[in-house]
Amino acid sequence: MRIAILSVHTCPLITPGSRREAGGMNVYLNMLTHQLASRGIAVDVFTRWHDPAEPEVMEAAPGLRVIHVEAGGRGPQPDRPLPPLTGSVTEQILAFQQREGLVYDLVHAHYWLSGLVGLELKQRWGVPLIAMFHTLGAVKNQARAGEHEPLGRIAAEHEVIAGADALVAATEDERDLMARLYDADVSHVQVIPLGVDTSTFHPLEKQLARKALGLNGERLLLFVGRPDPLKGLEVLISAASQLDDPDGVRVIVVGGDGGSEEGFQRAHDLAAQIDMTSRVDYHGSVAHDRLPYYYSAADVCVIPSYYESFGLVALESMACGTPVVAARVGGLRSTVQDGETGYLIPWHCPEPYAERLELLLDNEMLRRALGTQAQAAAQSYSWSAVTDQIEALYERVLHTNPIGS
Ligand code: UDP
Repeated sequence: MRIAILSVHTCPLITPGSRREAGGMNVYLNMLTHQLASRGIAVDVFTRWHDPAEPEVMEAAPGLRVIHVEAGGRGPQPDRPLPPLTGSVTEQILAFQQREGLVYDLVHAHYWLSGLVGLELKQRWGVPLIAMFHTLGAVKNQARAGEHEPLGRIAAEHEVIAGADALVAATEDERDLMARLYDADVSHVQVIPLGVDTSTFHPLEKQLARKALGLNGERLLLFVGRPDPLKGLEVLISAASQLDDPDGVRVIVVGGDGGSEEGFQRAHDLAAQIDMTSRVDYHGSVAHDRLPYYYSAADVCVIPSYYESFGLVALESMACGTPVVAARVGGLRSTVQDGETGYLIPWHCPEPYAERLELLLDNEMLRRALGTQAQAAAQSYSWSAVTDQIEALYERVLHTNPIGS
């Protein structure tokens, strides 16, 4: 089997968390494509030429190639590429395929821009299209994070949902939203979760992890995420300021380039207003395989997002035995079990976060109990199980059997 994976707006090789467009989807594509290739499937990932110094074609592993195409030029993305770019991206992919004399069995597209290219390739090659969105514009708009996704994106998502042969949702919640907001035929939607690599994400001794990171004995609250207002960092900073002893707490922010970026601006401004600047440390983006040190060093990992389609950070923290205090939104509602592996907060205001954080910070026994249960719960999410389900979906789509049969 030879498949074309489309990740037009973000290259899976970009460090997750370093830029607004690089996060869970990049981790997902890296893990899935390596697994697929190791099972003998030929995988070509078509993506933006984000670094002009890199060659057009890179072999990431045996059987796995990353093919760079120009989408709004080469180099770092100044802004999100617009839909009119998709035609030129399609032409470049077709030219590559013809030059190499390849036949692809199916197209697997990620995010709405790739979905549009996928629809074009489906027509041109006469092969099935599987689409996964990772985030949906209409859902983002409902999340009330203060930003508005353009109507063109939502129209494109409608088009892809109607035209794809199969859709992948990360959770049942996402599947229901596809049906409610986009009239998706649920018999075309398969729920396949994301995974966590427990050989990398497992508990490390807390004091050793803190020493390795140069962190001292303060109570540590960890935030890990892309610099995006949707992540709600300001809610955490505000909650930390409301703890009984805010001076004994440190908020560690992982992601971005050190805190100056636009996506963290609200958090920055708020910290200055409420005199919390000295309690917040921005560590910038951290290599994915170094994150277990952060999760293990932290007392609690806090995820105050306005929306998460899945919530990989929650799963990684749980796998490292660190309980999570997270917003009760989207995929977090199934990833985190309230009162067992962490706490879910139904409001985007700091008081309930402060209340739960106080409870956990003051009670080591409770923290340990939740952490142990969190680690156990994370064991059932493996990338190999995810790949089994994706591979089975490929087979079904290629043999045109409906999902679930
Ligand atoms: N991440 C990382 N380094 C960073 C920040 C984030 O490797 O400095 C990774 C993190 O470990 C997680 C992903 O980026 O795997 C974020 O995924 P999540 O589902 O939490 O959020 P999304 O980016 O999809 O909104």
